[in-house]
Amino acid sequence: MTATDPIHFVGIDVAYFIASLLLALGLRYMSSPTRARSSIWYAGAGMVIAIGATLLIDGDSGRRVLIPIAMFIGASFAYVQSRKVSMTGAPALIALYNGLGGAAAAGIALVELLRAAEHTSSLRVLAIVGALAGTVSFAGSTMAWIKLRSNMRRSVPFPNRQVVYLASMVLLFLVGLVLAYSNTSHPVLLMFFVLLALFFGISMTLPIAAADLPVLISLYNAMTGLAVGFEGFVLGNPAMMVAGTLVFASGALLTRLMAKAVNRRLSEIMYSGFGVSGDELSTTSKAGFVNEIEAHDAAASMAFARRVIIVPGYGMAIAQAQHKLRELTQLLDERGVQTAFAIHPVAGRMPGHMNVLLADAGVPYEKIADLSAINEEFSQADVALVVGANDTVNPSARTDVNSPIYGMPVMNVDQAGSVILLKRGDGRGYADVPNPLLEAPGTRVLMGDAMMSLQALITSIKAID
Ligand code: NDP
Repeated sequence: MTATDPIHFVGIDVAYFIASLLLALGLRYMSSPTRARSSIWYAGAGMVIAIGATLLIDGDSGRRVLIPIAMFIGASFAYVQSRKVSMTGAPALIALYNGLGGAAAAGIALVELLRAAEHTSSLRVLAIVGALAGTVSFAGSTMAWIKLRSNMRRSVPFPNRQVVYLASMVLLFLVGLVLAYSNTSHPVLLMFFVLLALFFGISMTLPIAAADLPVLISLYNAMTGLAVGFEGFVLGNPAMMVAGTLVFASGALLTRLMAKAVNRRLSEIMYSGFGVSGDELSTTSKAGFVNEIEAHDAAASMAFARRVIIVPGYGMAIAQAQHKLRELTQLLDERGVQTAFAIHPVAGRMPGHMNVLLADAGVPYEKIADLSAINEEFSQADVALVVGANDTVNPSARTDVNSPIYGMPVMNVDQAGSVILLKRGDGRGYADVPNPLLEAPGTRVLMGDAMMSLQALITSIKAID
């Protein structure tokens, strides 16, 4: 078959259509915990078909060599990284992959803009917006990756932030206008545009701290989708248009939900310097006086309770304690104790982190409730069991206007009959702010790694007749 063969072209269009359908199905199934695993296969099959179809397009034999080489390098890197990444390192790796998606889309835009004469001005506008979104997403996601990897929790503020933002936005707009409405390519101006967009992405992420980072990460996810979708229009590639638009739409929805969950407006997060400044944070990391509890006492108070609500957090993920936690709740259920899991939208280090871990441990979905559904129920619970969560249960978010997490809805664990909190030492969570819950009269702290503490609780409950 040749390039002029109509059957060939129809075949490629059909392949792109099937690929788009599979990508859409993959995304659809991701929203259901039971189908989440199969969704990866659908999306993967979609990608393979889309790449296969691209390889079959005639006209450029070079791509038939370059695409497989690029795929081999990318797949080998991803395979090695994914095999050795720990569950706690996964959020950072996902942020990095998202950024690379943005970089790939921006790369396509740059190549097309270097061939400016071959495109209409409308397509050049799409290419410019895609290049901007992709580059900002790449720079911002890479910064988020560095922040998560190095546990850089503090805001890195810089003077006159708003002025710098405004100036770089105006410059980006003007340079973008020149590039879009010029028939000839301007490599130097294009390079300046990319550098400015990189600067914009880095400076947008550096000052972000505490509960704002997850919102920004999902915004970058949406921006990568936008970049891919727009470059799909520039290339006339339907699979990219559909996949990009879907990722953009779902990323934008997730950003909205996350911002709502932490009670922030997106503009507040991006421009007002809402994140903490380094100076505002106390340098001491010591918690004050805490009431400790032994495992057998904690086990007894749960074994004889009517209702226990469990709040998992990042510490559970670090300790890989989700299986032990499920075992503990099974034991309590067998004793007639009503148990439920309360999930905060920003618990852990990636959206849905706790849901993924609990699903992995086989916790029944009907036992899992999100913050808005369960928060009023803490006042009827005898015990709130907090497993490695800190910021998401910090009551100062309700009252301390100077707290970087002020205004973020938190779990009302302090309204339960008593709180049993599992932690290892004097760590202060991601936001690194004092947590008065630790010193509250109703709180008892069971010190130790969550995995060991949960094992001790299980052993003690089994010993109770
Ligand atoms: P936090 O990070 O606030 O607290 C974690 C707690 O776990 C600490 O108290 C720590 O104390 C304890 N801990 C750590 N390791 C262990 C262990 N092995 N065993 C027992 N306890 C342990 O977690 P939360 O889930 O409450 O809050 C998540 C935070 O992360 C929020 O501020 C959120 O904004 C932020 N974030 C969330 C993202 C997301 O998408 N979900 C992305 C980026 C940031 P100690 O060290 O003393 O044991």
